[in-house]
Amino acid sequence: MISYPSPNFDDRPSGAKVKYLILHYTGMATGQAALDRLCDPAAKVSAHYLIEEDGQVFSLVAEHKRAWHAGVSSWAGDRDINGLSIGIELVNPGHDGPGYKGNYRPFPMAQMTALRELSKGILSRHDILPRHILGHSDVAPMRKCDPGELFDWRYLASEGIGLWPKGDDPSLGQNWRDISVVQQNLADFGYDIKVTGKLGSQTKAVLRAFQQHFRPADIRGQSDQECLAILEELRGLH
Ligand SMILES: [Zn+2]
Repeated sequence: MISYPSPNFDDRPSGAKVKYLILHYTGMATGQAALDRLCDPAAKVSAHYLIEEDGQVFSLVAEHKRAWHAGVSSWAGDRDINGLSIGIELVNPGHDGPGYKGNYRPFPMAQMTALRELSKGILSRHDILPRHILGHSDVAPMRKCDPGELFDWRYLASEGIGLWPKGDDPSLGQNWRDISVVQQNLADFGYDIKVTGKLGSQTKAVLRAFQQHFRPADIRGQSDQECLAILEELRGLH
């Protein structure tokens, strides 16, 4: 691990305990460009760690300090996600750029194994539930789509880090056409979403974030039985 201190942090609220692990991609052309930005006082952004595509880990902010990675965000009623989380940036150029996927590309195995080891250490030091290991898009679905559909949450869960559905109960998800049921399940799981019964822009964005995390084969933000079944299963794992 390379120490690469960022000035962009403050104190966690008094008494606040770390309960979330939030994963990001950098969305910049190179890791160095991202490090420069995360250490630029004018940018006012940071993360606790950054992981290069070759697996090199940079430590930017001490874990007991509040890094500035999540911005305006929310989960299960918690609004100061920065105050309650550790943030990790994964180097990846992201969805910006030409075409639908921009320069977004798969996260190499060396990067994923480095993330696995870093996460295991973090989980040994803090009380973080599997369902509180989330992407930036989960806590800010209207603004963010990182780490995105190419991020291998299934692999992480197989290593004991985070949730992944089994998808083996055909009786689940029957009410997927009832948008208020889908919205209520998303809200109960933790997403910041209003129950309106209509598939509006907020619901599409939240469904897309949910799909990018838990059902990456189809991320169009539409409701379907598989999505609701996964939601119902994961809620059962609380
Ligand atoms: Zn992010």
